[in-house]
Amino acid sequence: MATRMPSKNDHTLVKRPSTVRQPEAKRARRVKAVAATSVGLLDLGAWVARMPLLLERMNAAQDSFRFLEVMTPVPAGLIKTRESLAAWSRANGTSQGEVEAHPPGRNMVADEFLYFAEGVRKEHSLDYLFGLTTAMVAFTEDGRAHWNYFAFGRDHVSLVSTFDLRRYAAEARRPYEAAVGMLLVAQMLGLKHGVPSHEETRGCIFDFDANRDDVVVAIRQLAIDPQCLRLLPPEEAAAADALLAALRRMKEH
Ligand SMILES: [Zn+2]
Repeated sequence: MATRMPSKNDHTLVKRPSTVRQPEAKRARRVKAVAATSVGLLDLGAWVARMPLLLERMNAAQDSFRFLEVMTPVPAGLIKTRESLAAWSRANGTSQGEVEAHPPGRNMVADEFLYFAEGVRKEHSLDYLFGLTTAMVAFTEDGRAHWNYFAFGRDHVSLVSTFDLRRYAAEARRPYEAAVGMLLVAQMLGLKHGVPSHEETRGCIFDFDANRDDVVVAIRQLAIDPQCLRLLPPEEAAAADALLAALRRMKEH
């Protein structure tokens, strides 16, 4: 199973980002005196090798959001096989025909993860907590099952998928970590400001990507289109721009 087994040290470790910062950034933060929104990341077996570098770049780029790694034992069995997911979706109002027309792959059921994540988030006084899984994301909404998604979040917690993301990043000629960062930024802004995804593929981080392969366009551009940018408060639009600029600057090794 890809889920991490509880370790012998049954405790949660929150890795705070380094406090060593550039002098100008320190001054700027003191002047603004606005508490940053904290976003914890829980690796559910995605093993993003350059995650520390990704978070360092994202944190250095702006002062509105603080991304940090959270390590805690995660319940086993969150990822469903194709068969058990088909059974789960039928139990949640989906017909056999729909399952056959749109077959589920390997998915993690967000409903179960989000319940667990909310407890961890509160325990550590984080504003948001996101899980990263190698499976795709399934969830129920209004009593109906959905599957094969890149991400699903509710309130202050979200589940983000890296399924096929390495291949998509390669097609977009971007480092894998930049693609992971893009999904994190989209979830963060989507949850905090209610920015909805749009059906139209505009190469925007809020593209819905009904056809999963369309995500390549957004990974290539790493941008927010003007319509979506207008839905953000000015200071967070600036932070979002800075985050995406930092992702665009990332290179392969
Ligand atoms: Zn958009």
